[in-house]
This record gives sequence, structure tokens and C-alpha cells, in this order.
Amino acid sequence: MANEVRLRFPPSPTGYLHIGGARTAILNWLYAKKHDGKLILRIEDTDAERSTEESITGIIDGLNWLGIDWDEGPYFQTAFTEDHQVAAQRLVEEGKAYKCFCTKEDLDAKREAALTAKQTVGYDGACSRLTAEEIAEKEAAGLASVIRFKVPDRPGAVGYDDKVLGRIEQQYRDISDFVIVRSNGKPLYLLCNVVDDIRDRISHIIRGQDHKDNTIRQILLYEALGAPVPVFAHMPLTLDTNKAKISKRSHGEIVAVQWYRDNGFLPWAMVNFLCLLGWSAGDDREIFSREELIAAFSLERINKSNAVFNYKKDDPKFITDPKLLNINAHYLRSMDIKELASHVKKEMEIAGIWDPAFEAERQEWFLKTLEMTRERFYTLKDFVTQGRAWFADDFAMCPKARKKNLLKHPDLKEWLPELAEQLNDLDVFTAEETERVARAFAEEKGIKPGIPINGSRAVLTGQIKGPSMFEVFAHLGKETVVRRLRQAGKWFED
Ligand code: GLU
Repeated sequence: MANEVRLRFPPSPTGYLHIGGARTAILNWLYAKKHDGKLILRIEDTDAERSTEESITGIIDGLNWLGIDWDEGPYFQTAFTEDHQVAAQRLVEEGKAYKCFCTKEDLDAKREAALTAKQTVGYDGACSRLTAEEIAEKEAAGLASVIRFKVPDRPGAVGYDDKVLGRIEQQYRDISDFVIVRSNGKPLYLLCNVVDDIRDRISHIIRGQDHKDNTIRQILLYEALGAPVPVFAHMPLTLDTNKAKISKRSHGEIVAVQWYRDNGFLPWAMVNFLCLLGWSAGDDREIFSREELIAAFSLERINKSNAVFNYKKDDPKFITDPKLLNINAHYLRSMDIKELASHVKKEMEIAGIWDPAFEAERQEWFLKTLEMTRERFYTLKDFVTQGRAWFADDFAMCPKARKKNLLKHPDLKEWLPELAEQLNDLDVFTAEETERVARAFAEEKGIKPGIPINGSRAVLTGQIKGPSMFEVFAHLGKETVVRRLRQAGKWFED
């Protein structure tokens, strides 16, 4: 079909799936979905030294986790080396590319000379003027050659209408002949990428602005190969708050999609957040369902200016961009409780605190626990860290809770076990009954009710805040409450 909308995500498998790369995949996917198009996954593995199996698996796993599906592929660029070579050969035969025998030393000398003469630095086209005899002579002498694309010698400019950046043009005279095949016979990215996009009938290319400068040269290749030029949209780069590129080296694991999977983020929250890095619906909406996102998405609403990944690595308060935490929290708190339960189950299995009863006789209790706690949580991990006391006795106490609600009132060391005995006498262990006992206890001791209540919260949940304490008593149940309050003394030990 001539007007088919076909997009591609062509990662180079030389590392992890970077959040910037994931954003590229997501925006291409969205555009394909919106226009009933196809998304092709093409692994650009021509750089044999840097491509790894591990990286390919990581990229595919990351896309699967995000829920980004593709219609064709994965294709592997190395399977099409012959296509790339044939294309290069064809360009040479048609006089659109030529063999260049200049050595590195020749090129360095030309460069020096151009710099000294304050001329533009670029290949001077010397080898394009070689005669057939001269070429034959050099080849007979065994001289190595690259293949260079011959930029048409025309007045004016080559350009295109970028869907994000508007009209981009460059004067032909400012573009120097560029290498498309190395001296070892290996075709280079600029050519392979175009040949593959032509073969895969790609109609739209959405990629990062780091490729903007390649585009002009690639358009020359499309024209030389007699193929229609796709629509281009260059997305802003994702930078940190200091306008630096984000990378594992400078920012650590949080720039890899896998980190989010392993640290309690929901895949859709991640997709939702990544879309907002450099794109907006034109209003202040931040939460989008899949359908809403597809409906709202357009290339024209991609921002021109850099997208800021608002992560301050020296601020321990936020493990990643606070907007992402808020979006994740939104989904955690509003999603179907059973769906949440299946996510939390995985975290509990990893933490070694999953009990099959939570899916059987204690399911109702389990779901209610999630309901009671999720209002304060930001990631799935919170259920097994801050929320661990709900499921296991071996929880850690938040130091602030210990200091403020226990150590500040040393008498609680005796009082809480005493309160335990009074609660143990209750026949019905409801919020109302436990409240009555706790308040009477405070009165008996002549203290504010908050003192035994907050102390109990620390001992029972390890936290400084949480749901209503009487709900906590009732929900944790008499056996656990009494046992933990009886052992309150251990939290006072050094
Ligand atoms: N393999 C290239 C990259 O990962 C593809 C760029 C493109 O979209 O053309 O940067």
C-alpha cells in the first residue's frame, strides 16, 4: 500500500535500554497506533565490536515490559549487509559516489591547510576527479579506499520540513562528500540506515535531535537512490537539570528502563511519564490512559526545546524524577485492587514474604491491607519496605518513628506491654473497642492519648504515619497486636 504509515525503532544494541531510547520507541509506537500503521523493530547491530546479545535481550525485555509491541521484526541489520553493499556499488556505478584513496595523513594535511587558510574544513573532493586509469593504477598498487558519496554540485540548498523543528536547510556547497563504506568494505550507519528504511518502506522517522545533522546527508542518499524521503520529526534531547546528557556514567542506574522495572514502577506509569518528556497535549493533563494518549498524540505537539529529566542525584528525597513518582503513585492508588495485588505479590515473592494464603483464605484481608496502605505509597517496593510490618514480623523501624514516638517517652517500654494485656482481655477486637481501651489507658496514666497510640503505631507498623491507628489495631488482629506490644521493649535497646 502506497500510503501505509510505517515507523521503526532501530536501536543499536550497544548497551541498556536508555529512558531516552524508550521514549523514542514509545512515540513511534503511538504514532503507528494512532494512524493504523505498523511499527518495525530493527536491531542495528552492524557495529560488531560494540553490539552484544545481552543488550539485544535487554532492549527486547524492556520493550515487552513497557507493553510496546511491534508488528514486524526484530530484523537484524547485519542480515542485510549485501543490500548495503549493492546500494553503495550502484551509487558508484551511477557516478553518485566514488572511491577515495586519501590516507589519514592526506586528510589531516588537507584539514590543517584549510584551517590555516580559514576555509571550511571538509573533504575537497580530490578523488572524485580521478580518471578511470588513475583509479585502476591505485587499485593495482593495492591502495586501500573508502567509498564517498558525491554531494551534488548544485546551487541552493537541500532541506526538509521537520514536523517538530520546521524547515531545515543546508547549502549544497557546505556539505562535503562523506564516507558511506569504510576501507574494510563495511558500509556505515548513514547508508545502512537509509537502505534499510527504504527496504522497510518507512514513512515516518521520529528520532532524537542528535540525529538532526545526519538527516540532511541521508536525504541526499534517498534522492540518489531514487526513493521517496520519509517524514522526519526530531525530538528534543533529554537532559538533566544542569542541561547535561543523562547517562549511566553520570547518573547511575536510573537512566535504564530496567531499573524502573526492578524498583517498583508500573509499566504504564513509565510510558505515561516518558511521553511527557518533550511532548504535551497542549493542556496541563499529566495522566493519560492508553486510549487518551493515542487520541491526544501528535508530532506537532512535540517540544522544540530540550526535555528536562528532573532528577537531582544529590537529593535523597527522590529516587527519580518526582513527576514520575507522582504518576506512578496515581496509578498505584487508583488501579483495580486485584491488579495491584498481582504486582505486589511479585514484590513480596522477591522479598521472601509471600504467603499463598493471601490468595486463598486471607485474600480479603490482603486486599484490604493494600487498600489501607496504598494512599501513602509511591512505588510497589513501598509495600514490602514501609509496608513490610503488615506481612512479616522482621520489619525495620523508621528511625524517626523510633526517636519521636518511642525513645522520647521511655515509660512506653513498660506501658506498651501493659496496654497489650488490656487489649488481650478484649473479646471483640474492633476499632471502637481498641480505641476505648487505648483512651482509657492514657487517662489511667495521666498522659495524652497520642503517646500510647503513636508508640503503638511505631511498634506495630514501624512507621510514623499511616491509616487510623484503631483501624490498624483491628486489621492487624489481636494476636499480632498483643504479641508486638508485649515485645515493645526490644525497640528501646541500643
Ligand atoms: N541505531 C541508531 C541509534 O540507535 C538509529 C538512529 C535512527 O533512528 O536513525 O541511534
